[in-house]
Amino acid sequence: MNAEIIAVGSELLTAERVDTNSLFLTDELNRIGVEVTTKYVVGDDRERLADTVHRAAERSEFVILSGGLGPTEDDVTRDAVASALDRRLIFHQPICDAIEQRFRAMKWKMPDINRRQAFILEGAEILPNDRGTAPGQWIDIRHCSVMLLPGPPHELKFMFQKHCAARIARRVPKLAIETLVLRVAGMSESALDELISPVYKKHANPVTTVLAHAGDIQIHLRARCTTPAQSLALLAEVGGQIELLLGDRIYSRNGDPLEVVVGTLLKKQKATLAVAESVTGGGLAERITTVAGSSDYFLGGFVTYSRKLKISLLGVLPETLEKCGAVSKETAEAMAAGARNRTGASHALAITGNAGPTTDGDDAPVGMVYVALADAAGTVSTHRQFNADRERVRQFSGQMALDLLRRRLLTPG
Ligand code: AMP
Ligand code: MG
Repeated sequence: MNAEIIAVGSELLTAERVDTNSLFLTDELNRIGVEVTTKYVVGDDRERLADTVHRAAERSEFVILSGGLGPTEDDVTRDAVASALDRRLIFHQPICDAIEQRFRAMKWKMPDINRRQAFILEGAEILPNDRGTAPGQWIDIRHCSVMLLPGPPHELKFMFQKHCAARIARRVPKLAIETLVLRVAGMSESALDELISPVYKKHANPVTTVLAHAGDIQIHLRARCTTPAQSLALLAEVGGQIELLLGDRIYSRNGDPLEVVVGTLLKKQKATLAVAESVTGGGLAERITTVAGSSDYFLGGFVTYSRKLKISLLGVLPETLEKCGAVSKETAEAMAAGARNRTGASHALAITGNAGPTTDGDDAPVGMVYVALADAAGTVSTHRQFNADRERVRQFSGQMALDLLRRRLLTPG
């Protein structure tokens, strides 16, 4: 079954306010087993809103409106829905009395305009609002249920959970929704999609979505069957084919980020880690230490942004920097070896690169990054030329370094 969400309010069409209600509602609806097919943000405009409601109610089982139930002239939801569904609005004295009572409790007189909030759509059920003046409304028309909920998030959440969630759930055939999240490093989104889309395109169930962010790709598979066992079996079948294609490029099957995966491997192997960072300026150490218990394996790091500190703190030879440049395979490897020697860690990672936006003449091009790993077997390195802005180059670099270490820990020796 499908739902459409309509967030009402001109302020939501400015850069100052974000529509968060629809995120909450989407999450709740998905949990119940309802797919959200369309979300709208509509300004306080009666005709446009009526048109949107009409369209949504024609093609979906549930339409949820948030906002526009206030007392002022710009609150047009009641009028617009009445016009879209061709229903009258009927004044409801008990609601008006209840609103008046709320004002009286605060020793205020109810302004006349609040009477507007006591208008109910013909045939609608009133959803009492314990947290504000605007009551919600629920109206069934043919195949579709339309819900009007107030805009303030704390009111909307409370009202949806109290009056709508269980009622929607009763109409939805019971479905067991199970998800599988695969996380992949070291591939571009398009290369990954080219590889796996022949598999997932064959299946409408599970639904597969690919989300990419700076060297980190998540593949979400969502299966919906009548029992959890059926959903899990479907995930295993389709997910298994995808896993086969991606092999060890998958670093996590439970949603864990790379720093957690690497931490677990280090701990299991009783290994320790140090880092030497240039371009990431401490960002790699920061990521590693977001993991609780990282003190078991992480010894610390060097932020050696200048050539001088690469020489004095890590023992990189001035000739190496002179001959090969600060952003080079040789410097990255010397940084990693230096960090390992000077800390006694079993493994050391180093990152050097040029995040841009400009290059200072003798260095590598913007976006060039070298990462190196030193361990008991020696030193290895890789490099990539990224075409991204400064922040993303730094994120890509950290991902690249952690993945180099992960692969090394998977095949030690
Ligand atoms: P309204 O019910 O339209 O008078 O909205 C009241 C207040 O609720 C607005 O000023 C916003 O602060 C908030 N609000 C309305 N719609 C949303 C939304 N979709 N997401 C988050 N906040 C909202
Ligand atoms: Mg509004």
